[in-house]
Amino acid sequence: GVQQIARERLVQESQFEWRQQDTSLSLLDGMHLALQRDEFYLEYQPQFDSRSGALVGAEALMRWRHPTLGVIPPTVFIQEAENAGLIQALGQWALRETAKAWCQLQKLLEQPLRMAVNVSFPEVADPSYAQQVIDLLDQVGMPPQYLELELTETAMMRDASVSLLNLRQLKAVGIHIVLDDFGTGFSSLSHLSDLPLTGIKLDRAFVSPLPDHGPQTHIVTTMLELAKKLRLETTAEGVEDHACLEVIRHLGCDRIQGYIYAQPLPLEELISQARQGFKTNSDFNQGRLF
Ligand code: C2E
Ligand code: MG
Ligand code: MG
Ligand code: MG
Repeated sequence: GVQQIARERLVQESQFEWRQQDTSLSLLDGMHLALQRDEFYLEYQPQFDSRSGALVGAEALMRWRHPTLGVIPPTVFIQEAENAGLIQALGQWALRETAKAWCQLQKLLEQPLRMAVNVSFPEVADPSYAQQVIDLLDQVGMPPQYLELELTETAMMRDASVSLLNLRQLKAVGIHIVLDDFGTGFSSLSHLSDLPLTGIKLDRAFVSPLPDHGPQTHIVTTMLELAKKLRLETTAEGVEDHACLEVIRHLGCDRIQGYIYAQPLPLEELISQARQGFKTNSDFNQGRLF
């Protein structure tokens, strides 16, 4: 369940720290230069309409191809980038890359996708953030209604006044604002009506264990009902198998993201799979990934 997934994440991350110490390399030193050296890249994980099964969007996820340590996951370096004051530059880079990817996809696909980008607290704490985003979209030529920004509750609520002003301005121009990792962390249900949201994303810690015959199903059912009453769009992340997909669909979740359809993909791979039409990846159930 939730605790097991949290434990797995901790194990992954501590193994990484061990490797890092082992090479006695400071991650931070490299990070300052990594952006200039083009060592960061994005992968895009597709999102599907739960009723029609159509490809409707993709979440941009950052990776760092480190010259000696290999590919470093965002769970390891995002926090470091926040502490080092680098996340604003990284975030702007990710947004621009994603907007350019949208333009490329839009020419190739029949329906334009909605692209989701993750945003950290220091980004929305900058009073000029909303205007920067709006200007960037305008420069690149991506209409705001195709952008979705994903923030966690802590990112939205710390020093709430500036971040809320930014988010209200972004929502007002048609950008989708979703609460990421909903249900984990310091959740307060009142945030769902206080914050300028268009949707919520159920954390995979709740989604992946479904179907169970106990509390998880009740929790997810209730979260989805509440979101629907508040007219918030719902996305489930971490849908890994058919049984889970069936439950999530049955419970009326709007959008699906997870390994059952695809892992995060390089842009070229997203394009070629989108053209062929995605199929649920039944091999995943037998423990094979593609
Ligand atoms: P998140 O936004 O909640 O992203 C979902 C994570 O779950 C991704 O991990 C994704 O690869 C993984 N995932 C999706 N479907 C499945 C599934 O079916 N099974 C399993 N086991 N995992 C699944 P990833 O790419 O390692 O990203 C981790 C976190 O790093 C993200 O969580 C987000 O908080 C942060 N992050 C990633 N890119 C950025 C970025 O550009 N900016 C910021 N600020 N944070 C980012
Ligand atoms: Mg996210
Ligand atoms: Mg999430
Ligand atoms: Mg998450």
